[in-house]
Amino acid sequence: MRTRSRSPPLSVQAPVGAGRGRRRARSTKEGAMASPMSAGRFLAVLRAEGATVVEVGDWEHHNRNHVGAWGPVHGVMIHHTVTKGSAATVELCRKGYTDLPGPLCHGVITKDGTVHLVGYGRANHAGLGDDDVLRAVIAEKALPVDNEANTDGNRHFYGFECENLGDGEDPWPAAQLTAIEQVSAAVCRYHGWTERSVIGHLEWQPGKVDPRGFTMAWLRGRIRERLK
Ligand SMILES: [Zn+2]
Repeated sequence: MRTRSRSPPLSVQAPVGAGRGRRRARSTKEGAMASPMSAGRFLAVLRAEGATVVEVGDWEHHNRNHVGAWGPVHGVMIHHTVTKGSAATVELCRKGYTDLPGPLCHGVITKDGTVHLVGYGRANHAGLGDDDVLRAVIAEKALPVDNEANTDGNRHFYGFECENLGDGEDPWPAAQLTAIEQVSAAVCRYHGWTERSVIGHLEWQPGKVDPRGFTMAWLRGRIRERLK
């Protein structure tokens, strides 16, 4: 629920017909603007933000939509992979593994800052998380501590996996951090969201520690500056 003005339903719906191409969102978390953007638009907004993007295979149609819903979308989730080696990391995130089929995210951000698109639609990245956190993300309020795993996050979050060992020592190169900032800002800009719609996996699901090596508060600060 939003705390600001309560828009009547009509003002939510009005931009749907008129607004294609005009992305001035007001009812950003409800109504039309919570619909996932198309794959083509996703690619375009990432590039428009300055990201270096590579398309991997048939990423536009590689998803888990056959097992569950995709959308409405409410935010962006950042992860680390606990892997080493860019090619192997991209392939793992595209294919997944026996217990967790791919895609494991939408974009893989390798150490060099390249964004590899491996899937689009529902992806196995967020898993079950805390409904109180989802409500806070929707309202763009400060996040409560995640202490429940009761809500499907794969439905509601764009996901980026970032190549890093996740041991707190493996460095995060500047190019990679810039790319994380760019892709996050790109999605927020499209949907009319603030940096508060970008969370780490560790803020969503109890027991998760990713991303490790920088704080989400710091990343959100960079995204906020970029969105000004
Ligand atoms: Zn994760």
